[in-house]
Amino acid sequence: MKISRAVLAVLASLGLLGLAGCSSVAPASSESGQLSVTAAFYPFQFVAERVGGGRVGVTNLTPPGSEPHDLELSPKQVANLGEVDLVIYQQGFQPSVDAAVQTVPPRRFVDTASFLTLRALAEGDSPDGGDDHEQGALDPHTWLDPNNMIAITEQVRDALSAADPASATAFADNAKALIADLTSLDAEYTKGLAGCRRTVFITSHEAFGYLADRYGLRQVGIRGIEPDTEPTAARIAEVQTIARENQVTTIFFETLVSPTVAESVAGDLGLVTDVLDPLEGITDQSRGSDYLEVMRSNLAALQKANGC
Ligand SMILES: [Zn+2]
Repeated sequence: MKISRAVLAVLASLGLLGLAGCSSVAPASSESGQLSVTAAFYPFQFVAERVGGGRVGVTNLTPPGSEPHDLELSPKQVANLGEVDLVIYQQGFQPSVDAAVQTVPPRRFVDTASFLTLRALAEGDSPDGGDDHEQGALDPHTWLDPNNMIAITEQVRDALSAADPASATAFADNAKALIADLTSLDAEYTKGLAGCRRTVFITSHEAFGYLADRYGLRQVGIRGIEPDTEPTAARIAEVQTIARENQVTTIFFETLVSPTVAESVAGDLGLVTDVLDPLEGITDQSRGSDYLEVMRSNLAALQKANGC
C-alpha cells in the first residue's frame, strides 16, 4: 500500500499516527528492556544486530526478498518510526523512507548519507538517459565498500550508546569486533583483487561502483542504477562490444531481480552468467547467511570471472 506524503500529513493532523503508537505498534522491545531499532534495509539491520547484540531488537523496513529501491511503507511502519529508539536509513535512497522520516520524526536517527562520501554517477552510469537519473545524482550503494560499513558501525555504536548509556561498554565491544571483521574483509578484497587479468566486470544492476572504486575494478552496468530499468537495444549492443573488447567471461546478475537481461546479453556472446549480490536483502537464495558471507561469495565470483 502506498502512502503519499499528503496522506501522512492528514493522518498526522488527525492524531491517528500518534494513537497507533499507544496500541499495536508500541516498540516490541519496550518491556524486555531492549532498545528498539528500525533499519531501512538489510546492511543497516546487520550492523544494528551486531553492535546491539542481545540489548537491541531490530526491525527491517524492507521485507526479505523484496527490493528496497522502490519500497513502500504501511501506515503502521510509518507510525512506528516515531516510537522506536533509533532509525537507521540513508537519505536519498528510498523516497518513501525519506518522506516518512519527515512526517514522523524519529527520536534518534542515523542518516548514513550525512557522514559518508557519496559517489556521483558518471554520465556513463546513466545509459538510458531518461528520468531515472537527474543531473548530479548520487550512487546510493555505499554499503558495498566495507570501509563505509566501518563508518556506519561507529555511528550506530554512538547512537545506541546515547540511547542506553549503561550499555555503552557492551556496544563498544561489539562494534570493535564487527570493525575487526570488516577490516579483515577489506584486506581479503584488496589482496584477492590485486593482479586480476581483467578489470572490467559487467552487471545487470549497477550497484558495485563503490566496490569497483575501492579495489581498482571497472563496473559496466547493463541497466542503470535502478534494478528494474529495462535497457535499450542500443545499450545491450554497446555492452556486448565492451564485453568483447575486454575479454569479459561473465555477465553478473543479482538475486532479487530476474536474470533475463543478463542471460540474453550473455547468451548472444556465449558467456556464462553468475550472481553478484548487492546485499539489498538476504533470502534463502543468498550465497551466505549475512553481509560478511555474501561479500566473500561476491569476492570469489569476481576473482573467478576476472582471473584474479
Ligand atoms: Zn540497488
